[in-house]
Amino acid sequence: MPEGPEIKRIADSLDAVLTGNYIDEIKFSFPHLKRYETLLSSRKVTSVATRGKAILTAFDNGWNLFTHNQLYGRWLITTPEEIPITNRKLRVSLKAGNHIALLYSASTIEVLHDTDLQNNCFLSSLGPEVLSGEISAGTIVKRLQSKKFRNRRISNLLIDQKFVAGIGTYLCAEILFFARLHPGTKPSKCNNHQLWSLASQILKLTRRSYVTGGITNPPYLVKRLQKKGKTLREEHRFSVYRRASERCYVCSSRIYRSNVGGRPMFHCPCCQAQG
Ligand SMILES: [Zn+2]
Repeated sequence: MPEGPEIKRIADSLDAVLTGNYIDEIKFSFPHLKRYETLLSSRKVTSVATRGKAILTAFDNGWNLFTHNQLYGRWLITTPEEIPITNRKLRVSLKAGNHIALLYSASTIEVLHDTDLQNNCFLSSLGPEVLSGEISAGTIVKRLQSKKFRNRRISNLLIDQKFVAGIGTYLCAEILFFARLHPGTKPSKCNNHQLWSLASQILKLTRRSYVTGGITNPPYLVKRLQKKGKTLREEHRFSVYRRASERCYVCSSRIYRSNVGGRPMFHCPCCQAQG
């Protein structure tokens, strides 16, 4: 599933072609949403923003299009003349000027009024957005120390959107590696330095992934790996994620793969030794 950085890049692309423009036509394939086509057509889009792994497109009449890609949803931005032939199910289309934004295969699509946003169970349960620019390392440390979160297994906590919004499986593994924390540890077992290191890596790696399009390794390491012939993106992208049995770039130990709640987890048994 795309994580916060990927969703924000999609939202940026939608923002570039929709925000400030009037929608010539909006179409929904779900019958229960068809009644909103007239309500939203000819309205101006005022913003496109992420809410965790969901996207909220706001209109100038107080209504919002809420979409969550889940596993299979895909946005495509093209021109009305270049709509591809595909087996995917088209769920929503928004035409604005020379552009058309198409959402395929997503199942979570709602139209919500501004007054309903606070009551929406998904939106109201979200923790602070990591990529919002409004969350500090200090805020994250406070949340890690709070009664609500401090005794949670850290690899489960990071992907819980109620803790912070935007982290998924690959970011979780990479953040824990760069913070040198074992996936099984709990915030209550970490010292102050470890909590601050974790908080700063949450911010740093999520932003880096957003800027680089999903690469979490630092630029110097990417260059070093590329010089060694690892030129494919997947070969220099991560330090631990999807690198089971390969050598750690720091200590040369073999990266270990485990399963956490049905999700794959990767860590270096030496750099991230259990405390
Ligand atoms: Zn290591």
